[in-house]
Amino acid sequence: MVHSVNSLSHSPTAAEIDLAAFSENISNLTKLLSKSSVLLAVVKTNAYGHGIVPISHEAVKCGAKRLGVTTVEEGVLLRENGIKVPIHILSSVTTEQAADIVTYELTASISTEQFAYVLSKEAVKQGRTTNCHLKIDTGLHRFGVAPEQALYFCEACCTLPGLKWEGIYTHFSCADDGDWITTEQQFALFMDTVMTLNKHGYHFPVRHVGGSTIAMERPDMHLDMVRAGVALFGHHPAPRQQNIISLKGVMKLKSKLIHVRELPPNTPIGYGGSYVTTSTEKIAVVPIGHGDGYKRAFSTKGEMLVGGQRAKIVGTISLDQTLINVTHIPGVREGDEVVLIGRQGDHEITTLEVAEWMDSIVDEVVSSLMERIRRVYI
Ligand SMILES: *Cc1c(COP(=O)(O)O)cnc(C)c1O
Repeated sequence: MVHSVNSLSHSPTAAEIDLAAFSENISNLTKLLSKSSVLLAVVKTNAYGHGIVPISHEAVKCGAKRLGVTTVEEGVLLRENGIKVPIHILSSVTTEQAADIVTYELTASISTEQFAYVLSKEAVKQGRTTNCHLKIDTGLHRFGVAPEQALYFCEACCTLPGLKWEGIYTHFSCADDGDWITTEQQFALFMDTVMTLNKHGYHFPVRHVGGSTIAMERPDMHLDMVRAGVALFGHHPAPRQQNIISLKGVMKLKSKLIHVRELPPNTPIGYGGSYVTTSTEKIAVVPIGHGDGYKRAFSTKGEMLVGGQRAKIVGTISLDQTLINVTHIPGVREGDEVVLIGRQGDHEITTLEVAEWMDSIVDEVVSSLMERIRRVYI
C-alpha cells in the first residue's frame, strides 16, 4: 500500500504528503477543542487519499487520542501496523465481520439489536470485551437507532455479556452547509435521548456528535470528543470557516511531461477527436488518467501548472494519460515538472478548484486518487 520512495524506477506521478503541515493542522484544530473534549482523527478512505498507515502514526504522535475508519479492513491494517490507540469503525458493517472487530480490538458502532447480539456472542466466544458506541440517528438517516427506540434498545442490549458500552454518538446531516436550525434540532434530539437513557441508568462516558465543522464552529457541541477528518488534511468543509482557523494543504500532486510534440492546425486530439488544434500547437502528455482517479470530468475544465504557468487540459482524459496544451510556455520540454494540485511559482491549483471542475467537494478529489499513485512523505 505504501510504496518505497527508493524503489528502483517508477512513474513520475506522485502525491507529496507534507507531514509537517498535517501536524500543524492537528495542533491548530486541537487548540479549538473545549477542555473536556478529545480529538478522534478520522483516517477513513486511505486517510482521505493521503495514505492511512503513515498518516495514522503521525496523528497519534501529534496527540490524536483515537482514530476513526469506516471499514474493518482499514482497522485491521492499522492494528497490523502497530497502532495501539482505540480505532473506531464509524459505519455499520456486516455481522460476518464481528469476529475481526473482536479479535483486533476495534471499537464498534452499533445501530441494530441483531449486530449487538452477534458481537456479544463473538466476544464471549473469544473471551474478550469489545468496546461499543451506540449510534443514534438524528436525521442523516444512513444508520443508527431511532431516538424513540433507544431506551428499548438499551433494555434489550446493554446487559449483553462481552460488550462495553463506552460511547454514544450521532452524525449531523447539514452542519457543513451551515444550517444551524436543523443541526441544533438534531443536537437537542441527541441530548434528550442521552438524558432519557441516563435517567434509566444507561450511561455512556464518551458522547460525540460532529466532525471538522463542529470542531471549528460549535464549541457548545464538542462534548467528550470531536471526530475531525478533512480539516486535518488542510481543507475547510465550508469557505466561511477560512477566518476561524488557518489550515495548510497536505497533498501536492505532481508529475512530469513524458512527451511533447508540435501538431499542425486542424489536428483532432485524443479519443473522439473532441479537441481540434486551431494553429500549430504544442501538446504534452502527462502520465495520469481517470484510472488514477484523475477524473474524466476534468477534460473540458481542468488545468495543470507547467513552467510556472497554467496549461489547459485538451481532449478527453483517458485511463492513463492526459494531454495538455503547452503552446504558450517558452522552452517547455520533456521531463518538465507538472503540478496538478499545489503551487508552482506564482500559481496555485487548490484541491477546492479541482473539486469545482467536477461540481464536487475536496473529499472526493483526494480520496479518489488511487493507491498506484505513489505517496511520498516529506
Ligand atoms: C467522515 C466522518 C467524520 C469526519 O468528517 P469531516 O467533515 O471530514 O471532519 C466524522 N464522523 C463520521 C461519522 C464520519 O463518517
